[in-house]
Amino acid sequence: MNNKTHDKRRRAILKGLASIPVLAITGYQTSAHAAMLSADDPTAKALAYTEKSTVEGQNCANCNLYQGGTAASGGCPIFPGKDVAAAGWCKSWVAKV
Ligand code: SF4
Repeated sequence: MNNKTHDKRRRAILKGLASIPVLAITGYQTSAHAAMLSADDPTAKALAYTEKSTVEGQNCANCNLYQGGTAASGGCPIFPGKDVAAAGWCKSWVAKV
């Protein structure tokens, strides 16, 4: 194989790689959010979860367990696999430290 043929093959490989979407390589999911927790969920009911807190000064966004950062919804280890509303609340609320 001469250098020209080698360069052509290398360019073809690089072009092929460039056509693969970055998301396919990284496995990154565009919908990183889980399904929203329903207030009808048995665990949610047991902990009196609500999507809109009625407890002054307490909501998921300022709970130490909230994993959503500044997002309107995010994960909570009390409800694995579900997102809770930042404005929500449940009996397991604990102040951020
Ligand atoms: S423990 Fe309750 S209040 Fe705290 S983030 Fe989870 S659902 Fe919201």
